[in-house]
Amino acid sequence: MKKLAFIGLGNMGSGMAKNLVKHEFPVVAFDLNEAAMNNATTFGCKIAISAQVAVSDADIVITMLPAGEHVKALYVKDILNNVKPNTLLIDCSTIDVATAQYVSGLAQEKQLPMLDAPVSGGTAAASAGTLTFMVGGDSHAFAQAKEVLNAMGKNVIHAGKQGAGQAAKICNNMLLGASMIATCESFQLAQKLGLDPQVFYDIASNASGQTWSMTSYCPVKGVGPESPADHEFQGGFASALMLKDLKLAMQGAQSVSADVPMGERAATLFAEHCEKGNSTLDFSSIINQFS
Ligand code: NAD
Repeated sequence: MKKLAFIGLGNMGSGMAKNLVKHEFPVVAFDLNEAAMNNATTFGCKIAISAQVAVSDADIVITMLPAGEHVKALYVKDILNNVKPNTLLIDCSTIDVATAQYVSGLAQEKQLPMLDAPVSGGTAAASAGTLTFMVGGDSHAFAQAKEVLNAMGKNVIHAGKQGAGQAAKICNNMLLGASMIATCESFQLAQKLGLDPQVFYDIASNASGQTWSMTSYCPVKGVGPESPADHEFQGGFASALMLKDLKLAMQGAQSVSADVPMGERAATLFAEHCEKGNSTLDFSSIINQFS
């Protein structure tokens, strides 16, 4: 079995590392947070005293960190100079395309194959091993990574060259953020115009207005399949994470001079929603902003 190092054992990383152990990969793990490391020992990870030690004997290094600055710092300081030749590097964090390309460029200079492999699916999918991976990097590295990614996910898709995984992730989430807002305002307007939400759901979910935000994740309590709206918007995908992804999408759009008016508006509305104290609530709670 390939020897793995896993850095970043937070909400997502802990579930992912657990699934790797379940598939019998030997995993040496590291996190700055001691509680996260203690937790990882309970499901069979071996703990290292530093990131440098964790990666030193690995065949594959996987990272799952909060943001681009953490990824850049960790790879530059601890990973790129301490791995064996040909170690495969896989960053699963959601970060900006430019940083993903910059770090994989540094890896390339050292002849180290690197993939950006952000995920779709939240903590429940991370625990269940049912994440979707969107992978950027060359085909040879992608082929090498498939076995470990399959141990953590149900869909592993090669998006293209370095940075393409991050591009797919932020475009998908920009679409999701904007379509959730459109779904929310449509339900509110329908109700004000005298329509019962269930009746509107029955019509729109079978008509041209159908969206995933409506039929799989309805923001209205008691309508459609069970969703965070049925649980006071607890759990699910935090509004703060949606805002993070929308900001990354705006950064990406700016870098290539792309027009994204709906994405821009979605970013503004989610920023306002978070400022009003809703950061930890599921992103569908944005329905409460529309009267
Ligand atoms: P988290 O904050 O729970 O976990 C991040 C972990 O990284 C923390 O335990 C932190 O201590 C550790 N860390 C930070 N810098 C480190 C370093 N230099 N060395 C070692 N450990 C370090 O975050 P999360 O919710 O697990 O999300 C991780 C990534 O996944 C983010 O990029 C996020 O945008 C993305 N994501 C999250 C979700 C979700 O639902 N939580 C869904 C999809 C994608």
